[in-house]
Amino acid sequence: MSYNDNNIVIDVSHTKFCVGPCSSKEEESKVNIFKPKSGGRYKEFYYPLNKNSYLILKNVRICCDCNSRYLEFIDEEDNERLKQDSKTIRKKLKI
Ligand SMILES: [Zn+2]
Repeated sequence: MSYNDNNIVIDVSHTKFCVGPCSSKEEESKVNIFKPKSGGRYKEFYYPLNKNSYLILKNVRICCDCNSRYLEFIDEEDNERLKQDSKTIRKKLKI
């Protein structure tokens, strides 16, 4: 984990469970049930912490629900709900 300005940047390459805001900490099985379906990793997910800072997750595998939720909130520019999710994620990942 590193702090870049006010951002919290965390590389989740080695996290085996979904790093999204859902309550599941169940590890992904051999079958690729998380996104991306290819088995790779998304480069970065940005969750706002407050006005000028972000929780930045790098090398992400995420369950379908958390992925659609994120895309929906980004699409709707719903920063309040994204902020709420950043809190949930920090608790889940203990950051
Ligand atoms: Zn999830």
